[in-house]
Amino acid sequence: MNDNNVCVNKGKGKVWLVGAGPGEVSLITLKGREVLADADVVVYDALVRGGMMSLMPEGAELIYVGKRAGNHTMKQEEINALLLEKALEGKKVVRLKGGDPFLFGRGGEELELLVQNGIDFEIVPGVTSAFAAPAYAGIPVTHRDFCRGVSVITGHRRSNGALDINFKALAETGNTLVFLMGMSTIDIIMNGLLSGGMDGDTPAAIVEKGTTSSQRVLITDLAHLEETAKTGHAEAPAVIVIGNTAGLAERLKWRDSLPLNGVRAVVTRPKELSSGLASMLRKKGAEVIEVPVIGIEPIYDSDRLKDAIRILAEGRYNWIVFTSPSGVRVFFDELMKTADVRALAGCRIAVIGKGTEAELAKRGLHSDMIPSKYDGRTLGAELSRLLRTGDRVLIPRASIGNKALNEELSKSGDVIIDDIATYDTVYHAAEWFDASKELADPKTFALFTSASGVRGFVSAYPDMDHSAVKAVCIGAMTAAEAEKYGMRVWISEEATLTSLADRLMQASKG
Ligand code: SAH
Repeated sequence: MNDNNVCVNKGKGKVWLVGAGPGEVSLITLKGREVLADADVVVYDALVRGGMMSLMPEGAELIYVGKRAGNHTMKQEEINALLLEKALEGKKVVRLKGGDPFLFGRGGEELELLVQNGIDFEIVPGVTSAFAAPAYAGIPVTHRDFCRGVSVITGHRRSNGALDINFKALAETGNTLVFLMGMSTIDIIMNGLLSGGMDGDTPAAIVEKGTTSSQRVLITDLAHLEETAKTGHAEAPAVIVIGNTAGLAERLKWRDSLPLNGVRAVVTRPKELSSGLASMLRKKGAEVIEVPVIGIEPIYDSDRLKDAIRILAEGRYNWIVFTSPSGVRVFFDELMKTADVRALAGCRIAVIGKGTEAELAKRGLHSDMIPSKYDGRTLGAELSRLLRTGDRVLIPRASIGNKALNEELSKSGDVIIDDIATYDTVYHAAEWFDASKELADPKTFALFTSASGVRGFVSAYPDMDHSAVKAVCIGAMTAAEAEKYGMRVWISEEATLTSLADRLMQASKG
């Protein structure tokens, strides 16, 4: 401690206790996301679900401490000790917990040992399921016409087996009552409140897996709470809401009108590209799991590319062709090392489709040609009609580039084509993603935006039954690749992300 009683923690790490929010990935706070991105170690548990995993920082050590089939949950003391151990190693540790870390999250207990050992920590509150699950079901937890407050209560039994709740006092508050962890004690809660004097016809709701694509809302009243849970096969995690506000769900429900409500989309694009598609799908109501099976590894300092950039700057290329947004990014990164965009002044630009065009626009450039259909063969055929004898064409792109483009271009006769590999495509599986289990779900679709994406997926998850994959594909070539592996295929009408999202919607409607 220094004079101001502030703990000076030189050389030691630090712990951030972070609320992950209730399930829907984008409900994590901005601060939560920032500290997560910066973590060396992330300690997380069962309520931190699939989609959240794509926010995990690359290279960080991820430690799961929740329940998993066959394994026991790590004991609380072991978790506390783990946080301390990692902090003492000098690591930036994020302890990520579902909802808000202090609401029935044992967050307080996890900090005790840190305090005793002088470890710095911060708390990043989270959006709690106690309020978010009702909100996503159209239930305001307070309402001036109905109640003066809201009570959040745990339905978890104490170690002696009792609930220890003064139901009479609770009933008398007139508050909206939100029970967490109450599914296995729902009968005790119901009977307790009834004998505490609450009316049997008080509206009630069970919100299961709130905010996720599997959210279910069961509306009932207090007297039928247990029966509704049984007949509806309601399961944890769920919140139970009791009070007149629960009666508003029917009027204020809003999620059902989102076009992709209840749909889960597995986005397989490379990380750098997936966020646009992911956010579009989320806006339409889908739950998105980003599983970037493909990565891009730029080929730095390639002599061929350096030569090409020199030739370009000398004004000796007539056309430059971009076949993917990654191709644009990698090319311009390399270009800027020795020249700048003025090198392109004398050269016309062809792009394969809208995404690539948009990437180009970020650099202040329009394209001169875009094919009528966004695939390599059409691009080659239509561009070759614009070429003249002696023209020179630069194609900076993936080392496994599509050959149809070159075939078509070379049909135009006496032209020089410099097809230069600027990046390699690498395939990798996300360890946390159980592909065969996740994709067996009837509401879960895999989205593919390139044939190499399909190949990436298959080589990342070689052992699963690929015919169980419901694949929504961006174009004929991507679809043909998916069909090779027996996937069930839907093809978007146009090769655009918007059209892909539309196709997903149709596919999900059966
Ligand atoms: N700290 C968490 C709560 C942990 S206790 C929070 O603030 O949300 C675990 C309980 O939270 C579950 O038994 C369930 O009652 C509730 N819960 C968590 N996620 C939920 C979800 N997506 N939908 C409904 N209830 C949820």
